[in-house]
Amino acid sequence: MRAALRTVVLFVSLGACGVVVPSAARAQGNPDWHRAIPGFKIAGNLYYVGTADLAVYLITTPQGNILINSDFKQDVPAIRKSIEGLGFKYGDTKIILISHAHGDHDEGVGVIKSDTRAQLMVMDADVAAVESTAAGRPGAKVDRVLHDRDTVELGGAKLTARLTPGHTPGCTTWTMPVVDDGRTLNAVIVGSPNVNPGYVLVGDKRNYPEIAGDYVKTFALLKSLPVDLFLGAHGAYFNLKDKLPKMTAGSTNAFIDPAGYKAYVAEREQAFEKELTKETADAHAGDTVGFDIAWNHVALSVPNIAESIAWYEKMLGFKGAVRGGQPNPNARQQVADLRRGNVTIELFQLADAAPLPESRKNPSEDFRTHGVKHFGFEVKNLPAVLAELKAKGVKMAFDMRDTPTERFAFISDNAGNAIELIEHKTAR
Ligand SMILES: [Zn+2]
Ligand SMILES: [Zn+2]
Repeated sequence: MRAALRTVVLFVSLGACGVVVPSAARAQGNPDWHRAIPGFKIAGNLYYVGTADLAVYLITTPQGNILINSDFKQDVPAIRKSIEGLGFKYGDTKIILISHAHGDHDEGVGVIKSDTRAQLMVMDADVAAVESTAAGRPGAKVDRVLHDRDTVELGGAKLTARLTPGHTPGCTTWTMPVVDDGRTLNAVIVGSPNVNPGYVLVGDKRNYPEIAGDYVKTFALLKSLPVDLFLGAHGAYFNLKDKLPKMTAGSTNAFIDPAGYKAYVAEREQAFEKELTKETADAHAGDTVGFDIAWNHVALSVPNIAESIAWYEKMLGFKGAVRGGQPNPNARQQVADLRRGNVTIELFQLADAAPLPESRKNPSEDFRTHGVKHFGFEVKNLPAVLAELKAKGVKMAFDMRDTPTERFAFISDNAGNAIELIEHKTAR
């Protein structure tokens, strides 16, 4: 059962999104996102005040402070505690910047803005996403729109915004000189070089038209930057976990790591190129066939066509009827077409049909028999979908599993057929 279950996960993650998930991206969905850690000094006037993985940087000056990233709304109290733990005032925050417009970095900017009256400054291509009031978006007014190479200055601190698009159109890598112990260090805070699970780089369904070219430009730029202090939007980018204990132990500054930066950027560039190559090959996979195909339908043999029509209508919103009018209990064969959007389900009721074997009702067990297995529907918020279905009395065939890249569950239709419902996670 457990082994078969793994097969389900593999089947789903490779089959449904067609993307091999890079291990670094998988690691992003980790429990360290909301785990508070004490703030600490990186170098000079640059401090880390984020959670164990969601990086937030504090730059202190005599005229107030600059904050880079807010994390999720729920993490703002931990950030405030870190700032105060270092002896600074949360209320002295004058400027808020972000790495990019994803909830793990910007969801809390509106909260911090209203707490501190700080000015929010965002790269032009991410402004709309930051100001959006859609679910999970901050809906915060941007006070200053930034462009590549714009500088943000306060009390002698000078940060430069470098546009490193791809991960989001306005993804920003921040650079700044930090004076520490009489020397000047180049700090680089990488916005994100990651191609997330579910991102599409090639073809008609690209995240946005220029995405692949944007990543190419981003890697060229990242490779050109002078780096002493290697930092980024997630602690995982620069191995915060291992570097922090070394830092606390004393002697050298573990965050001075130009070699680690170079290796990281090279590895991420390879991951991007691998994904691009794969997607390009997939896009041309049909070129050797002289015709196009489009999805048409799935067919099910059911014991009672009227009951099945009612089930699909009630549970999944399909509409349809038996061909030729009313269901006829005496007919040897009845057929119905159910439709919702561009999905068609064809139902057959045959007088002498055998019932579905028990093993076929359990999706994990069903893999032990060759042949076509379940079919699946993509949904937006699977827990909400399942709550609604359970309220309507749906029978579960396989309870929801939550992986870093997707959530999925199987329900049984009234005839025992397994239907997968899957929600792909994006935007980290
Ligand atoms: Zn992130
Ligand atoms: Zn992100």
